[in-house]
Amino acid sequence: MIRMVSVDKHFGELHVLRDINLEVTAGQVVVVLGPSGSGKSTLCRTINRLEPIDSGTIEIDGQRLPEEGKGLAGLRADVGMVFQSFNLFAHKTILENVTLGPIKVRRTPKAEAEKAGIGLLERVGIADQRDKYPAQLSGGQQQRAAIARALAMKPKVMLFDEPTSALDPEMVNEVLDVMTTLAKEGMTMLVVTHEMGFARRAANRVVFMSDGEIVEDAEPEAFFTAPRSDRAKDFLGKIL
Ligand code: ATP
Ligand code: MG
Repeated sequence: MIRMVSVDKHFGELHVLRDINLEVTAGQVVVVLGPSGSGKSTLCRTINRLEPIDSGTIEIDGQRLPEEGKGLAGLRADVGMVFQSFNLFAHKTILENVTLGPIKVRRTPKAEAEKAGIGLLERVGIADQRDKYPAQLSGGQQQRAAIARALAMKPKVMLFDEPTSALDPEMVNEVLDVMTTLAKEGMTMLVVTHEMGFARRAANRVVFMSDGEIVEDAEPEAFFTAPRSDRAKDFLGKIL
């Protein structure tokens, strides 16, 4: 579903992604771990071409991502992304946030988009908040709205970049629960997170990055109980 082959990227002198080869098959949930600055966010951002790459190829569902131009909007719509900061439109209601993409990009009729949007808000447990504005919701509710908004585009893949890092601790689980349900339903997901419980419970694989490289790619239990590289051992020693 996601296939990255020999992907390299620099920011000026900084070699931020080094020969990245990563394949995520349909329905897989891959958690990306690694120290700050190792390139995790950049990796996510290249997958929907928020960041261009220097060389290599990225395919989503067998379709190679174009550098630019017309095909890009469509391919980008196939990749839902949820960020640490919720990035909701402040001046639109929760329901409008969820229906905007389908109406504008997918050309879904408004009534249909609203019906589907309410269904998605029900799925993430905030249908009763639909007429409020983002600032009137808790962080956990806003992040669930952001997930519903991404799902409204019917993406083939969902990318999450530290979706719970900005949340108060008591709200972390309500967001992780939604993500765990999505994973169980078979969504293909790439998740950057420091939530080791989620990684152990919901991930099929853990990818460990360090200095722009994928250093380990293993099943969660194997990674957590017997990391192979010194860099991963060092990282786990600091966070567990
Ligand atoms: P964190 O855990 O702190 O979120 P990360 O693994 O997500 O870190 P990235 O945000 O991908 O790391 O950044 C990787 C490296 O690239 C860092 O050294 C960062 O400073 C640098 N970097 C990121 N974005 C840019 C940019 N737009 N221009 C220049 N350098 C950048
Ligand atoms: Mg990051």
